[in-house]
Amino acid sequence: MKVALISARKAGMVSCHDCHLLSRMPKISGQQVAHCPRCGVVLHQRKPNSIMRTWALVITAMIFYVPANVLPMTVTSALGTTQADTIMSGVIYFIHSGSWEIALVVFVASIFIPFLKFIIIIYLLLSVQFKSIKRPRDRTILYRITGAVGRWSMVDIFVVTILIALVQLGFLANIAAGPAAIYFATMVVITMVAAESFDPRLIWDVVDEKHE
Ligand SMILES: [Zn+2]
Repeated sequence: MKVALISARKAGMVSCHDCHLLSRMPKISGQQVAHCPRCGVVLHQRKPNSIMRTWALVITAMIFYVPANVLPMTVTSALGTTQADTIMSGVIYFIHSGSWEIALVVFVASIFIPFLKFIIIIYLLLSVQFKSIKRPRDRTILYRITGAVGRWSMVDIFVVTILIALVQLGFLANIAAGPAAIYFATMVVITMVAAESFDPRLIWDVVDEKHE
């Protein structure tokens, strides 16, 4: 079934990012900007510099991913010995101690999901830049997944916090968050902003252009 679709942009209309009012896009030239007639915010038909901004953010997030995984996430001291664990050595520790459920949660939330998000965002960026018209609907779904899944990455920080609380309660050892925690939290936030700065309508703009 073929449905005639018309986008706001094709109709000469623009949707306000903040209050979602649909209004006619005024004729503007050069440095001029259009403002929303209702709330006064600057109007854009698409998020400005979406592709470049998303690239910059996703690359920054990937740089933060390195110290988040290489540096210690937890520093444990017991009976005079100190042990620093990275995310991966923590996962291995949990497997060896029989808590494979915790190992799985930590691995999925802190190693697998952030990596998957990078891959999805980069794939979406490249598909728009190379003007792909393949499966735009599936790519929109992928975009939605990055938003839905991202907030769960912070689970790892909670796991570390709970772990610290548990160990402190046991009085046997002392455990503290390592330097990787701050890199990890920053990486998660930057990845969320990167996904937010990508404008999924660009996927459909390419499809529209090819059909005209
Ligand atoms: Zn508005």
